[in-house]
Amino acid sequence: MSSIHKIGVLTSGGDSPGMNAAIRAIVRTGLDCGFEMYGIHDGYAGLHSNDIVKLSRHSVSDLLNRGGTFLGTARFPEFKDPKVRQESVDVMKKIGLDALVVIGGDGSYMGAKFISELGFPCIGLPGTIDNDIAGTDSTIGFDTALNTAVSCIDKLRDTCSSHKRISVCEVMGHHCGDLAACCAVACGVEAVLVPEVPWTKDEVYASIKNGIDSGKRHAIIVVCENQTDVYQMAKELEALIGLETRATVLGHIQRGGTPSAYDRVLASRMGAYAIELLRKGESGRCIGVKNGELVHEDIVECITKNKHAFMKSTYDLAQVLR
Ligand code: ADP
Repeated sequence: MSSIHKIGVLTSGGDSPGMNAAIRAIVRTGLDCGFEMYGIHDGYAGLHSNDIVKLSRHSVSDLLNRGGTFLGTARFPEFKDPKVRQESVDVMKKIGLDALVVIGGDGSYMGAKFISELGFPCIGLPGTIDNDIAGTDSTIGFDTALNTAVSCIDKLRDTCSSHKRISVCEVMGHHCGDLAACCAVACGVEAVLVPEVPWTKDEVYASIKNGIDSGKRHAIIVVCENQTDVYQMAKELEALIGLETRATVLGHIQRGGTPSAYDRVLASRMGAYAIELLRKGESGRCIGVKNGELVHEDIVECITKNKHAFMKSTYDLAQVLR
């Protein structure tokens, strides 16, 4: 058993729906185990500036169904500086914190890795809509973002079909095509462009033209962010095919909103598991879900490993069903 008494929790990097559910589960499970629980505002920035508050059961009431993160989140590039990290660990030691739970993406995991290397117990939870973290089948927020994007693409489809238009729609994912590939299957789009699978404009344009020539009333192309300029692509398609073509960037719409039931349950399970791991004396671990079971692995391995090819089959399916 560990000698932990006071645990801090922070959210860092891009927000994702379900972060609040994770914080709630961490706080309530921690209190249930007899720990004192502390919330750190605005990610590593709040850790460094000692913006830390004690949390009760009531502090996390009415949060389960709220998107975003009530603790706030921030980008704090200064945390890459070893001096700033040491000062942050000193802040935690000064107020008597013994352990930290970090909810965020791979950048936040880097910060968590360094904290645990400084001998401070730290556990990571995958909070990002991008699903770009290796140690888990699903990240907290991915399912909600997928449902949001699908609902937007369904709407684009209605209007495209009515007007005989082509739509080029950019979804998030950073450098991971999971969100785009799943949208493609769920919405039955004509083409999907993801970083994991090589593609050329010539092939994509020929396939869209082929569909329109054979009688389709519309075409939708889903593009993972960072793949291409969707506005330029829309211009080129319009010139080639002669149908009005619009580009839509869904952007931060995908980050907000009420978390899905799946994300609430996932976040709650992962949050409770973080406390269990700390009680067992674990540190430098990140939590995931694989085949429905909670798992944990070394945070360094998780950061350095390539993302699983889980969605490759989804991409292939999208190609078959288009
Ligand atoms: P995400 O966690 O969503 O991937 P970022 O990549 O912006 O988002 O990372 C969030 C924060 O994590 C950064 O603003 C910084 O405070 C911290 N961080 C990112 N990379 C590192 C690093 N290499 N070393 C230490 N801290 C880092």
